[in-house]
Amino acid sequence: MVIPNPNAPTAIYEPKAEIEKIIAANPESVVIIDEAYVDFSEEGSIAELIHKYENLVVVQTYSKSRSLAGIRLGFAFANPELIKILEGVKNSFNSYTINTVTRILASEGGMDKANFISCVEKIKKTRAYLTGELSKLGFETCPSSANFIFTTKPDTDCTALFEYLKTKNVYVRHFDKPKINNYLRITVGTDEEVDILIKEIKNYLEKAV
Ligand SMILES: *Cc1c(COP(=O)(O)O)cnc(C)c1O
Repeated sequence: MVIPNPNAPTAIYEPKAEIEKIIAANPESVVIIDEAYVDFSEEGSIAELIHKYENLVVVQTYSKSRSLAGIRLGFAFANPELIKILEGVKNSFNSYTINTVTRILASEGGMDKANFISCVEKIKKTRAYLTGELSKLGFETCPSSANFIFTTKPDTDCTALFEYLKTKNVYVRHFDKPKINNYLRITVGTDEEVDILIKEIKNYLEKAV
């Protein structure tokens, strides 16, 4: 069982107690909690629960909060027994193991805590700015614990808005799936990028009426 928390594409964080219930109720399954976005949440990781549950694996990545997607590195927390099994099979699945450059970058990127915290805080601040500006335009945004937001404007065709934004070189994501097909998933960029997005949405809304 694999559960992303915070979730994608909603960006919603499922409380620790709820996740713990799922882990506890499924002792026969390995439960993998994918915490790719967890550093953008207030509640944080459940990694410490590996000491309590033998069936829990928590995975994280250098690709998001650590700004090092290019080095292709992730890591897992689990009890020694499960880690031993992962160690045993990992070379069969991934013959390109961690190279020296990656190792050096990861330990330096991982150790530069001040830079890490300042990047995460900057994204959280811009996330609040983006959510606020969208709210002024009538958008309803899921409470985000990630570096993106999931938002909708119920009285507007967000698929058409998505297509319009593309023609203005503003790229957000849209999923043609039931229940979420009037939502947009928007990555938190810089404040300047938010301003461009909001300007183009305003242009669209003016044209659409
Ligand atoms: C980005 C991401 C990952 C990790 O991706 P890598 O770049 O391959 O480390 C895992 N799960 C989710 C939900 C993600 O968004």
